[in-house]
Amino acid sequence: MSDFEYEGLLDRARENIPEDISNRRRWRLPEPQILIEGSNTLFQNFNAVVAMMDRDDNHVYQFIQTELGTSASRDGPRVRFKGRIPPKRIRRTIVNYVNTYIKCNQCGAPDTHFIKEDRTTLLKCQACGATRPVKL
Ligand SMILES: [Zn+2]
Repeated sequence: MSDFEYEGLLDRARENIPEDISNRRRWRLPEPQILIEGSNTLFQNFNAVVAMMDRDDNHVYQFIQTELGTSASRDGPRVRFKGRIPPKRIRRTIVNYVNTYIKCNQCGAPDTHFIKEDRTTLLKCQACGATRPVKL
Protein backbone atom coordinates (compact mmCIF):
# COMPACT_ATOMS: atom_id res chain seq x y z
CA MET A 1 0.00 0.00 0.00
CA SER A 2 1.45 3.35 -1.00
CA ASP A 3 1.57 6.53 1.05
CA PHE A 4 -1.12 7.89 -1.17
CA GLU A 5 -3.48 5.04 -0.38
CA TYR A 6 -2.86 5.41 3.32
CA GLU A 7 -3.70 9.10 3.10
CA GLY A 8 -6.59 8.29 0.78
CA LEU A 9 -8.20 5.93 3.24
CA LEU A 10 -8.08 8.48 5.99
CA ASP A 11 -9.28 11.22 3.65
CA ARG A 12 -12.25 9.15 2.56
CA ALA A 13 -13.07 8.59 6.20
CA ARG A 14 -13.09 12.33 6.74
CA GLU A 15 -15.10 13.15 3.64
CA ASN A 16 -18.04 11.15 4.89
CA ILE A 17 -18.26 12.93 8.20
CA PRO A 18 -21.14 15.38 8.50
CA GLU A 19 -19.88 18.94 8.12
CA ASP A 20 -20.34 20.15 11.69
CA ILE A 21 -18.50 17.20 13.22
CA SER A 22 -15.80 17.35 10.61
CA ASN A 23 -15.18 21.01 11.43
CA ARG A 24 -15.34 20.46 15.14
CA ARG A 25 -12.84 17.70 15.14
CA ARG A 26 -10.43 17.25 12.27
CA TRP A 27 -8.94 13.86 12.43
CA ARG A 28 -5.49 13.24 11.14
CA LEU A 29 -3.10 10.49 12.08
CA PRO A 30 0.57 11.33 11.96
CA GLU A 31 2.51 9.36 9.37
CA PRO A 32 4.29 6.53 11.19
CA GLN A 33 8.03 7.17 11.47
CA ILE A 34 9.81 3.90 10.95
CA LEU A 35 13.51 3.35 11.42
CA ILE A 36 15.32 0.10 10.72
CA GLU A 37 18.15 -0.31 13.18
CA GLY A 38 20.30 -3.39 12.69
CA SER A 39 17.94 -6.35 12.88
CA ASN A 40 15.19 -4.40 14.63
CA THR A 41 12.55 -1.99 13.43
CA LEU A 42 11.60 1.06 15.44
CA PHE A 43 8.19 2.67 15.26
CA GLN A 44 9.44 6.03 16.47
CA ASN A 45 6.22 7.93 17.01
CA PHE A 46 3.94 5.13 18.16
CA ASN A 47 2.66 7.10 21.16
CA ALA A 48 1.87 10.14 19.01
CA VAL A 49 -0.09 8.04 16.50
CA VAL A 50 -2.04 6.26 19.25
CA ALA A 51 -2.75 9.52 21.04
CA MET A 52 -4.74 10.61 17.97
CA MET A 53 -6.69 7.35 17.91
CA ASP A 54 -8.33 7.78 21.30
CA ARG A 55 -7.94 4.08 22.02
CA ASP A 56 -6.12 2.03 24.64
CA ASP A 57 -2.47 2.12 23.61
CA ASN A 58 -1.87 -1.42 24.75
CA HIS A 59 -4.70 -2.71 22.59
CA VAL A 60 -3.21 -1.01 19.53
CA TYR A 61 0.22 -2.32 20.48
CA GLN A 62 -1.00 -5.91 20.80
CA PHE A 63 -2.94 -5.67 17.55
CA ILE A 64 0.06 -4.45 15.55
CA GLN A 65 2.30 -7.07 17.09
CA THR A 66 -0.14 -9.87 16.22
CA GLU A 67 -0.70 -8.60 12.68
CA LEU A 68 3.01 -8.38 12.01
CA GLY A 69 3.61 -11.77 13.61
CA THR A 70 6.69 -10.65 15.47
CA SER A 71 7.64 -9.89 19.02
CA ALA A 72 7.95 -6.33 20.14
CA SER A 73 8.76 -4.23 23.16
CA ARG A 74 7.70 -0.79 24.30
CA ASP A 75 10.53 1.67 24.54
CA GLY A 76 9.29 5.02 25.82
CA PRO A 77 7.24 6.62 23.03
CA ARG A 78 8.52 4.01 20.59
CA VAL A 79 7.89 0.38 19.79
CA ARG A 80 10.76 -1.87 18.85
CA PHE A 81 9.97 -4.86 16.64
CA LYS A 82 12.19 -7.86 16.11
CA GLY A 83 13.22 -8.13 12.48
CA ARG A 84 13.31 -5.74 9.57
CA ILE A 85 9.76 -4.79 8.78
CA PRO A 86 8.93 -2.68 5.72
CA PRO A 87 7.30 0.60 6.75
CA LYS A 88 4.38 -0.08 4.41
CA ARG A 89 3.49 -3.22 6.38
CA ILE A 90 3.36 -1.23 9.59
CA ARG A 91 1.27 1.43 7.90
CA ARG A 92 -1.11 -1.23 6.66
CA THR A 93 -1.63 -2.64 10.16
CA ILE A 94 -2.56 0.85 11.34
CA VAL A 95 -5.10 1.19 8.54
CA ASN A 96 -6.46 -2.25 9.49
CA TYR A 97 -6.80 -1.14 13.09
CA VAL A 98 -8.62 2.02 12.06
CA ASN A 99 -11.00 0.07 9.82
CA THR A 100 -11.65 -2.59 12.47
CA TYR A 101 -11.85 -0.57 15.68
CA ILE A 102 -12.34 3.09 14.86
CA LYS A 103 -14.09 3.82 11.59
CA CYS A 104 -17.88 3.68 11.39
CA ASN A 105 -19.02 1.23 8.71
CA GLN A 106 -22.08 3.30 7.93
CA CYS A 107 -20.80 6.84 7.51
CA GLY A 108 -17.02 6.44 7.75
CA ALA A 109 -16.63 8.82 10.69
CA PRO A 110 -13.84 8.15 13.17
CA ASP A 111 -15.87 9.61 16.04
CA THR A 112 -16.70 6.30 17.66
CA HIS A 113 -16.35 4.62 21.01
CA PHE A 114 -16.89 1.20 22.54
CA ILE A 115 -20.00 0.38 24.48
CA LYS A 116 -20.83 -2.78 26.36
CA GLU A 117 -24.12 -4.53 25.76
CA ASP A 118 -24.54 -7.75 27.72
CA ARG A 119 -21.37 -9.61 26.81
CA THR A 120 -20.88 -7.96 23.46
CA THR A 121 -18.74 -4.94 22.79
CA LEU A 122 -20.16 -2.59 20.20
CA LEU A 123 -18.55 0.20 18.29
CA LYS A 124 -20.92 3.14 18.46
CA CYS A 125 -20.69 6.07 16.08
CA GLN A 126 -21.28 9.52 17.51
CA ALA A 127 -21.88 10.99 14.06
CA CYS A 128 -24.71 8.75 12.81
CA GLY A 129 -25.54 6.55 15.81
CA ALA A 130 -24.79 3.26 14.04
CA THR A 131 -23.42 0.37 16.05
CA ARG A 132 -21.61 -2.80 15.08
CA PRO A 133 -20.12 -5.58 17.15
CA VAL A 134 -16.34 -5.66 17.57
CA LYS A 135 -14.10 -8.35 19.02
CA LEU A 136 -11.66 -6.94 21.51
ZN1 LIG B 1 -21.46 6.66 11.58
